[in-house]
Amino acid sequence: MKLQSYLQNTWVEGTGEGRALVNPVTGAEIARADATGLDVKAAVAFARETGGAALRSISFAERGALLKAMAEVLGANRDRYVEIAQRNSGNTGVDASIDIDGGIGTLKYYAFLAKSLGDAKTMLEDGRDQLGREPVFVAQHLWTTRPGVAVQINAFNFPSWGMWEKVAVAMLAGVPSIAKPATATALLSYEMVRDVAQAKVLPEGALSLICGGGEALLEAVGPMDSIAFTGSAATGQMISRHDAVIASGCRVTIEADSVNATILGEDAAPGTPVFDLAVREVVKALSVKAGQLCTNIRRIFVPAAHADAFGEAVASKLGTLVVGDPADEATRVGPLINAAQKTEALEKIAKLATECSVVGEAPLGDVAAQSGFVAPTLLRCTDPAGAKLVHEIEVFGPVATMLPYNDLDQAMALASKAEGSLALSLFSNDPAVQDAVILGLAPWHGRVLVVDEEVGKNHTGHAIVMPQCTHGGPGRAGGGEELGGLRGLRFHMQRTAVQGGPALLERLQSSARLGGL
Ligand code: NAP
Repeated sequence: MKLQSYLQNTWVEGTGEGRALVNPVTGAEIARADATGLDVKAAVAFARETGGAALRSISFAERGALLKAMAEVLGANRDRYVEIAQRNSGNTGVDASIDIDGGIGTLKYYAFLAKSLGDAKTMLEDGRDQLGREPVFVAQHLWTTRPGVAVQINAFNFPSWGMWEKVAVAMLAGVPSIAKPATATALLSYEMVRDVAQAKVLPEGALSLICGGGEALLEAVGPMDSIAFTGSAATGQMISRHDAVIASGCRVTIEADSVNATILGEDAAPGTPVFDLAVREVVKALSVKAGQLCTNIRRIFVPAAHADAFGEAVASKLGTLVVGDPADEATRVGPLINAAQKTEALEKIAKLATECSVVGEAPLGDVAAQSGFVAPTLLRCTDPAGAKLVHEIEVFGPVATMLPYNDLDQAMALASKAEGSLALSLFSNDPAVQDAVILGLAPWHGRVLVVDEEVGKNHTGHAIVMPQCTHGGPGRAGGGEELGGLRGLRFHMQRTAVQGGPALLERLQSSARLGGL
């Protein structure tokens, strides 16, 4: 099977051999993807002109109805998608749900937000500024939709959520999307877009898909377009420094990898509920999606006095984890998405081993030699203050490292050594610790989760991205921002200071939604 691309409202096939998509359990090829020879420039122009014009001509509420219609089409096919996620991504049922239901849920959330925006197509910020002596010359800030296309390049670990979280925001803003899933797991994105296209719920050109290489997209963008990239820091930097991208003047946002951390406060001693909550969360980090989440916990800062107990508690749970074929109901942890990812993960673990020892790992049993399997592993850094690699290397798999600390200041200083991350969590009941960590480490992170006894198990998890909250992180994490409710629309809209008379601004206000982004 060769995956086609959906360009100019038509399914087209590349002329090259393409790259293989495999079943990570067996290593067997299940499809190929290739975009060689496709007229990407014409497709970008079609999306920009035809899809963009159609979306800009309808209101926020009507765009929300499109999002709802897509969510319904996808929801009706959910079970088929779970089977595909298992076959191409090695997902267990839980893993598949995070990706598939997460994607559908995000579309529904933005459809819900759209209702509150009503019939407007623009937004006018609250508050007018008088610019002259007399109140006849004033200014107000207007948000309008950029007449461009949203190029969306995604990572392999979320072929559903990664695509729909970007499409949802762009479509509500009135901008057409060209989605480019990572080749290794593109089958799910392909089947989902195929179902949406077949259902004919969208205007022509509102959604396009490129399966295979995406290099031509970088040459095709213009000043009103945008590129939203999710993936490794190396590819992200290549894209943001690409000559054609820079020359185009398009907007670029990068969601890259990061070495996220969790901190246990000194009050999180063995036997306390927060200690147990932290153990639970770390075991999740070492099992859900086989650790292939960009927001996952990679470093665990534990008070030195509690480090042995924490290591033992996590290791004993790791010992009971069933790693295997996700088709087997008993399996809790599936494989990485292919043999290449396994090799990369093992190489990085070997590098970390120069600074760490193994505290515990899950038994691999029969699957040890099979394509993508890596044992969920807890490491312990032997010299947290002197170590370097543990703050730099992201093992994109079920691996995390414990770093014992002496006092909170040291833990916070070490946490920031990752040079900017997507997510931080703290397990502590102590208000002083909570405040110090938030104020000290918020600038280094896009999101901070604080778990105390009151929050208990009622939180969505360290790694889970909620559409209400911004997703992204500073520094190494790429400096981008996605989602965050209506905040996400900023990327696709232009804020313009309109200067003129009060009557002009009254007219603009009559057709705009009052309140900024
Ligand atoms: P990757 O190798 O950087 O690839 C990401 C995407 O870029 C893929 O779709 C890839 O396409 C595409 N790409 C590569 N070269 C390109 C080029 N010259 N022009 C246009 N597109 C190009 O990353 P990955 O291995 O898929 O994903 C794993 C990494 O993503 C991890 O490090 C993880 O931390 C990070 N991640 C970050 C987030 C976040 O939100 N911050 C979320 C998920 C994952 P092909 O697949 O066709 O090569």
